[in-house]
Amino acid sequence: MISRIDLRGEALPEGSALRDLLPRAEFDVEAALETVRPICEDVRHHGAAAVIDYGEKFDGVRVPSLRVPAEEIDRALDELDPAVRAALEESVRRARLVHREQRRATHTTQVVPGGTVTEKWIPVERVGLYVPGGRAVYPSSVVMNVVPAQEAGVEGLAVASPPQKEFGGLPHPTILAACALLGVDEVYAAGGAQAIAMFAYGTQGTADEPGCAPVNLVTGPGNIYVAAAKRLLKGRIGIDAEAGPTEIAILADSTADPVHVAADLISQAEHDPMAASVLVTDSDELAAATEAELKTQVAASKHIDDRIVPSLSGRQSAIVLVRDLADGLKVVDAYGAEHLEIQTRDAAAVADRVRNAGAIFVGPWAPVSLGDYCAGSNHVLPTGGCACHSSGLSVQSFLRGVHIVDYTRDALADVAHHVVTLAEAEDLPAHGAAIKARFGWKVPETK
Ligand code: NAD
Repeated sequence: MISRIDLRGEALPEGSALRDLLPRAEFDVEAALETVRPICEDVRHHGAAAVIDYGEKFDGVRVPSLRVPAEEIDRALDELDPAVRAALEESVRRARLVHREQRRATHTTQVVPGGTVTEKWIPVERVGLYVPGGRAVYPSSVVMNVVPAQEAGVEGLAVASPPQKEFGGLPHPTILAACALLGVDEVYAAGGAQAIAMFAYGTQGTADEPGCAPVNLVTGPGNIYVAAAKRLLKGRIGIDAEAGPTEIAILADSTADPVHVAADLISQAEHDPMAASVLVTDSDELAAATEAELKTQVAASKHIDDRIVPSLSGRQSAIVLVRDLADGLKVVDAYGAEHLEIQTRDAAAVADRVRNAGAIFVGPWAPVSLGDYCAGSNHVLPTGGCACHSSGLSVQSFLRGVHIVDYTRDALADVAHHVVTLAEAEDLPAHGAAIKARFGWKVPETK
């Protein structure tokens, strides 16, 4: 069911040569760009009507209105299973604890007497938060998007999630309930690239329904079409990292429990046929025991044929055999997994040596499922190797740092000759002139 890649033969190659040996989906956002480009153009020119048409085409339901009526959002919370409500509340409580501590304070540096630079963090004005709802529905993604945005102080906050046929074209009721729980009342029944384009371009309102005002930033996970639309519209809107089909890598040695390892690999495979599950180990015994466990546990799973088997047997998933833990660390760093579990001796020390991962889960009691819902950490994380250069969603994603420069006459005079010298070195004499104009067209003497 899951293939093996044996890297025990020779010394591991470096960089991209190593990456080329590792499993990764033929997940081509570039190709998906061609699919989403006309969708985004249509939404740009025809607004809400186009969003509704694409919802009918891809989600199989024609929504009566894009904007979800407030009474539907309230009703979803009233009718929510109390156990689910309690679990969501705990998820929110823990996420707030972590994200509140991420807030950055305004900081002033006195560069010289009379010369200061203050770095002030200002929330983005209006954001669009995408909550997936194609193959699975993700009320947990409401929590993971909304909590950091609220903790950052964002004032304008809109959520979009695909319309569900079985709920008359509304987003899934648990998603609406999660919005109500968090006080979000602007929700749209829109999914995929059309939702991202709606956020980017905005839509005109009608006599019956207000339109969606354009946003400054779109965040949230989604499938390949969501990732492609975010990449296409980046610039017009800000985006977070590309958070596409999920990935788990597990770095494990002979001390790991194959029952846990197999369960964790399956837990991420059940997201999407494109999801990736990768075990990196120096133990032949663990590899064999995990393969046997996968057979047993997959047979007892729910989403076997549509997601788990295609994901585990796809070229994006594998058991990678390495000579030792040091090689294992090289492999996980080259892979840059969205989620990385460390199931080895001295797991915390091993985790400390990892450079590239969206989030790291240490030891046998911190499975990725915990992070998906209730660890307090954020589950919107970079995929496809983007963990090598990007971070997961955080309060920081919703803030812009602005430098406020405040110099007195004396402080400027003191450094004026350096500014003029650099301006001349760059052949930009008007820059120097802007300094000289303040001092009778002369470069002031330094003290
Ligand atoms: P989704 O909401 O992302 O996508 C559904 C939408 O895709 C539909 O509304 C439709 O408009 C569009 N679509 C479907 N087929 C299309 C086609 N042929 N052409 C154009 N558009 C099409 O929901 P999903 O499909 O369930 O995907 C959710 C994804 O989010 C999964 O891959 C999951 O792994 C991922 N996820 C990632 C993270 C993360 O942080 N990286 C977190 C949670 C979920």
